[in-house]
Amino acid sequence: MTLSISNTDKSWIEVADNSDFSLQNLPFGIFRTQNLSPRVGVAIGDQIVDLQSLFVLGYLENLPFTKDDFATNYLNSMMLKGKAACRDLRLRVYKLLLSDSPDLQQNEHHCAQILVNQSDAIMQMPVKVGDYTDFYSSREHATNVGIMFRDPENALLPNWLHIPVGYHGRASSIICSGTPIHRPKGQQRPNDSEPPVYGPSKLLDFELEMAFITFEGKPLGDSISTTEADDYIFGMCLFNDWSARDIQKWEYVPLGPFLGKNFASSISPWVITLDALEQFRIPGPVQEPKVLSYLEYEGDKHIDINLQVAIETDAGNETVISNSNYKHMYWNMNQQLAHHTVNGCDIHCGDMMASGTISGPVPESYGSMLELSWKGTKPLTLNDGSERKFLQDGDTVIMRGYCEKDGVRVGFGEVSTKILPAK
Ligand code: CA
Repeated sequence: MTLSISNTDKSWIEVADNSDFSLQNLPFGIFRTQNLSPRVGVAIGDQIVDLQSLFVLGYLENLPFTKDDFATNYLNSMMLKGKAACRDLRLRVYKLLLSDSPDLQQNEHHCAQILVNQSDAIMQMPVKVGDYTDFYSSREHATNVGIMFRDPENALLPNWLHIPVGYHGRASSIICSGTPIHRPKGQQRPNDSEPPVYGPSKLLDFELEMAFITFEGKPLGDSISTTEADDYIFGMCLFNDWSARDIQKWEYVPLGPFLGKNFASSISPWVITLDALEQFRIPGPVQEPKVLSYLEYEGDKHIDINLQVAIETDAGNETVISNSNYKHMYWNMNQQLAHHTVNGCDIHCGDMMASGTISGPVPESYGSMLELSWKGTKPLTLNDGSERKFLQDGDTVIMRGYCEKDGVRVGFGEVSTKILPAK
């Protein structure tokens, strides 16, 4: 009999009602402490279960993992064992943490070795990202950008309702929450009638996105269908796709985003498994015109994830500037993955696919400063009285996300990144 996760189960580890890391979540990440080398952990409440120690102490027997899969800087080795193995591993941890499960609970000595306070841990990049793709799958965002930069009457380009539009980004500059970034420098043309200039970007922006991380895919030449897509998705994290709008605007025709995008993207450190998100699935929008057959899908493939963006000033004053939701996506992950591989492009363990900016239908739910300040024409007023059209040095951008239903909360924690002056 396969153990399944129940919403009424509790853990013997205390979990606050508003904790993102309930027993029903159990996300994976990589952590280290002053005394412990980097290793795989699972978050619960304000604790981390150390999977390396759990393995060494014999709690992960009869699963297809070795110590090296947990004593590592990245989740990739563990993920290479496949979806079924990772699912069984998560269920094993779940079983050990159940309130009526005595094995670990009653062994004080083992508990002391296996449990780490999150406040004592330093989180690292969870995966070694092989390839990174950024989609553009929010209709509201694409429409807003189209109105601002092209034609208000024909805001969406002719392909947008037929193709989950995307581009290949850069994996090397994806960083973990907590790592500051420097304001990027580059070429801009602030005045259309004058030559371009070089200097620090003046229009630095965030993009509120979610990313999914893949398992090993199929050989080059093969495709993954919308039905198969779930089997190739390990989990999701919050994703801040930093953007320098002035650099982007000057460079992007004809080949698309380049230096305005690749200086940094920040992710939250805990990967929430697709299994943990299943119960928050909801129907997506009606897609009209009808999509081509390889993009058709069955069942509910969108997910209800509350999302929030805040700016914290250098003095520590925080203002929430946007409340959006992942459910606003037009194209879902299954369609994105099917489209990405329809031509035979291969995906691999640890690839990262970002959603594109997630803007909701009302201005308070827009997912970038570009839209929130409407190209700088409507400055936002923060709680300390200061104004923002775009981001300032010293600002910290914080994104948070969580699902909640029937008294169960499955959250993502946060991705928080401070902006330092240009180098
Ligand atoms: Ca983006």
